[in-house]
Amino acid sequence: MMRVTLDLRCNECGHNQFHMPVQRMEGHGIYCASCNAFLCDTHNLEKAFQAINRAAPARQTPAALSA
Ligand SMILES: [Zn+2]
Repeated sequence: MMRVTLDLRCNECGHNQFHMPVQRMEGHGIYCASCNAFLCDTHNLEKAFQAINRAAPARQTPAALSA
């Protein structure tokens, strides 16, 4: 497992560091580095980030620059 800091918060304790699997045998789950609560599946992480980016205001997107 690899310890990573993400722009996500643990649902249980609010921690933003997580253990991410780096080898196939370690599975697909991402867990909180503090309380070990399950965060999400690695397959869902990209979707989670996309949801955050969509929700975040005032990003310099082409649409924002032209507005
Ligand atoms: Zn936690």
